[in-house]
Amino acid sequence: MKQAGSNDDGWVDLHIHSTASDGTLSPEQILKMALDLNLRAISITDHDTINGTIEAHHHLTPQDVELLSGIEISTSLQGNTLHILGYLIDLKDPALSRTLSILQNARKERNPKIIQKLQQLGIEVSYEEVVKVSGGGEVGRPHIAEVLLQKKVVRSLNEAFQKYLGTNGPAYVDKYRLQPAEAISLIADAGGVPVLAHPFIIKTNSERDLDKIVSELVSNGLKGIEVYYSEHTDIQTVLYEQIAQKHDLLITGGSDFHGARKAGVYMGVGKGNLRIPYRLVEALKEYKVTKLPREPI
Ligand code: AMP
Ligand code: FE
Ligand code: FE
Ligand code: ZN
Repeated sequence: MKQAGSNDDGWVDLHIHSTASDGTLSPEQILKMALDLNLRAISITDHDTINGTIEAHHHLTPQDVELLSGIEISTSLQGNTLHILGYLIDLKDPALSRTLSILQNARKERNPKIIQKLQQLGIEVSYEEVVKVSGGGEVGRPHIAEVLLQKKVVRSLNEAFQKYLGTNGPAYVDKYRLQPAEAISLIADAGGVPVLAHPFIIKTNSERDLDKIVSELVSNGLKGIEVYYSEHTDIQTVLYEQIAQKHDLLITGGSDFHGARKAGVYMGVGKGNLRIPYRLVEALKEYKVTKLPREPI
């Protein structure tokens, strides 16, 4: 007899960052690693850019794993960070491209301001050094953290966030972000499935408060929730499964693999025991085919 939790259909990882944002592996290297790990499907979900997902599609061969187009959009919920994942989006959607350019420009405006603040704090760091570390992808705070680490200003990336770059740090600068409802519509209008990323980052005092936030997002068009995630405890996973069931949401899962930029988080297995079954991908595809409006002929 099959054991509970066993799975004959293969495993997936639907939350991966590439060099197009703050991951350290290129889309091509990610495809190779996924194949080596014997995963059945992956999604590259870079922060505010689809360039990694596009590049991976270009490199895709019939031998490769199944690739779902993906994105992770940073939004602001009452000033706090909330990430919305989008799956199976149309990569040629003009409105999506336009809005992503705006978000990318917001990053380009913010990043030099962070550098300026660091310089005012007496740290010798330049924007050029940070761009070099980013390798040409969208620049984020993790790249700045890495330069601080290289220069031995801090002893770890986490210390860089704690001491300087985090929301309460002296070098923190906010940037223009979409409202969650805007990100949800953007993804849905691009033919994709909008999913609440790693709900554990939502700071609430009670399960009721969390449920209220999810209800609001569902009324905005949210269709899924990332239940299986590297940093979720067993208790959180069960809670998010219940929330998914209550609101009739699709369930997704992923490691949030960033390569060397997130130590101890591995593709496919997260911190070691994450397992995401392929049937979640089937449910996403089924939803797209049956529930989303068809493309105009
Ligand atoms: P940004 O989108 O440029 O504002 O940077 C946010 C990203 O920084 C997140 O998506 C994480 O990948 C990363 N990050 C946030 N907090 C930390 C931390 N304490 N340690 C390491 N990375 C972090
Ligand atoms: Fe990141
Ligand atoms: Fe995220
Ligand atoms: Zn992520």
